[in-house]
Amino acid sequence: MFLACPNRCSTNRFELWNASVFVDSAGRYLDYKVVDAPLYRCIECGSPAVDLGEVPGTMAADRLAKLRRVA
Ligand SMILES: [Zn+2]
Repeated sequence: MFLACPNRCSTNRFELWNASVFVDSAGRYLDYKVVDAPLYRCIECGSPAVDLGEVPGTMAADRLAKLRRVA
């Protein structure tokens, strides 16, 4: 995973958006449960962060799917 803000904010701080975060009675972090796919947003501008780390894998999967259709 390599998160990046689409507006290129330099803070590089992101907020976990759609996951449930569990804490104990003292508010200490215990665990989190991702609802669907984890979504992060830039804390600077609020834009959904882009996961650049997923791009090569997605492109490879695309190529693989195309190859399978041809064969
Ligand atoms: Zn930003």
